[in-house]
Amino acid sequence: MGNERRSREHYLGCLLGGAVGDALGAGIEFDDAEALAAKHGPGGIADYVAVYGREGAITDDTQMTLFTADALLRWDNARRAGRLRSPVVFGREAYLRWLHTQGVAWRPEMGKPGWLVKERGLHARRAPGNTCLAALQKGGKGTPSEPANESKGCGGVMRMAPVGLVRAGLLDPFAEGSALAAVTHGHPSGYLSAAFLAALVAELAGGAELRDGIERSSRRLERELGHAETLVAVERAVSFAEGRGEPRELIVRLGEGWTGEEALAIALYCVLRARSFEEGVLLAVNHGGDSDSTGSIAGNLLGLLLGVAAIPARWLDRLELRALTEELALDLWRHFGEGAESLSTEDAARYPG
Ligand SMILES: [Mg+2]
Repeated sequence: MGNERRSREHYLGCLLGGAVGDALGAGIEFDDAEALAAKHGPGGIADYVAVYGREGAITDDTQMTLFTADALLRWDNARRAGRLRSPVVFGREAYLRWLHTQGVAWRPEMGKPGWLVKERGLHARRAPGNTCLAALQKGGKGTPSEPANESKGCGGVMRMAPVGLVRAGLLDPFAEGSALAAVTHGHPSGYLSAAFLAALVAELAGGAELRDGIERSSRRLERELGHAETLVAVERAVSFAEGRGEPRELIVRLGEGWTGEEALAIALYCVLRARSFEEGVLLAVNHGGDSDSTGSIAGNLLGLLLGVAAIPARWLDRLELRALTEELALDLWRHFGEGAESLSTEDAARYPG
């Protein structure tokens, strides 16, 4: 096994793949299986469905993923300047800035503005999760030991991929993924599913094979209080992918993806089964549940594994905020990729730490 660290093309693939999966799911997020079949036929969709006034529109999953990236880049600038603070401090502020994009007045706790929150295209409500809105309205102070609520919604896992792109050794992706998700989601299945995804992305970014990465992330998950539901979901996804059965029926048995562990399981199953990016994300969105979130997570993983060249151009060409998403992926690469670069003072102003 090579275990060679993945390249810039894979960092781009991770963020753009997630955004494409989100955008494919966006137009059918609230269609149950009957509505999906009635509108799009038994096979479901094979391309973007116009929603929010356009094709290729992204939703809160991508918006919040971009703010996770913003938080990590600020954390890194602070770290490089010798100011050692926890990534979750930056994460809380970044998610509060996302809350500002949803129409909430600016508050001092949102931190220094930086550039991302000024991007007009992000100031759009795309069916944001109620749990995230409510927890952030209250300041986003949740932690695994002092939970914000009892929510195990998928709003934590759907935004956590960038944590795994941080260069190995700088942080514990599982622990920080858990803490960053617990800002808004207090049930273990809400934050441990996010921790699992962060750990798995870190494994894959380091060059691990998918099944080895899932295995090692599962062993890490087992050490946590309250892990059983998430571990069972992951194990079912793996065993379904190894066995026979009609994929669409097996996905129904994994759930609908509204909760963290179900969204993770559906995405893992689709990624394990897929022979291409296209096949995997279409499988991940064509069900009666939370299609944009399962599409987003599957897209993050497939894009990371296969690289940006594996994403069909017809989807990238019409993807909303493509250039902005690319910019953040490349900034993650410059900060954390192979031979991470020395950064300019301009970078410190873009991501004030
Ligand atoms: Mg969404």
